[in-house]
Amino acid sequence: FDLANVSPEDRKEVERNVFFGTVDQLKGWARSNSLWPLTFGLACCAIEMMAAGGAHYDLDRFGVMFRTSPRQADVMIVSGTVTKKMGPLLKRLYDQMPEPKWVIAMGSCATAGGPYVKSYSVIKGVDQIVPVDVYIPGCPPNPAALIYGINKLQEKIRYEAKTGKQVISR
Ligand code: SF4
Repeated sequence: FDLANVSPEDRKEVERNVFFGTVDQLKGWARSNSLWPLTFGLACCAIEMMAAGGAHYDLDRFGVMFRTSPRQADVMIVSGTVTKKMGPLLKRLYDQMPEPKWVIAMGSCATAGGPYVKSYSVIKGVDQIVPVDVYIPGCPPNPAALIYGINKLQEKIRYEAKTGKQVISR
């Protein structure tokens, strides 16, 4: 198919309606628009995460639908304080999620221990157990901040699919 041989009107029509890309790009686009997060609500941040899924913020409009089984999920949203006792269970659920998979650390507790950073029983950031793709600061971050973090993850998935390069979050 040679665009040079078509009339200017047809050429305009083709450019408006036909997209060129790779299968990897298509997969990245599809994945980024149908994320299924495994909720991992551990403390107060979880309330904000639940609010993001409610009618007012309507997370579904981004193709994001919460799952309760790790077998059906591809994103883990860690929202809350990760204790040393909870750490191994979180890791086991992460391992049960199929590839490809991503992790969002929501709030200062999941990111770095938060107000409990000096506690003997708290892990100082969930990235000590599982790889984190997006960090969302705040105590707690509001639902809009979570949605912004999810949008960033969607951008990251599309970029990685397009370029084949891995984005390091920090
Ligand atoms: Fe609660 Fe703040 Fe920790 Fe979120 S970051 S779980 S709001 S203490």
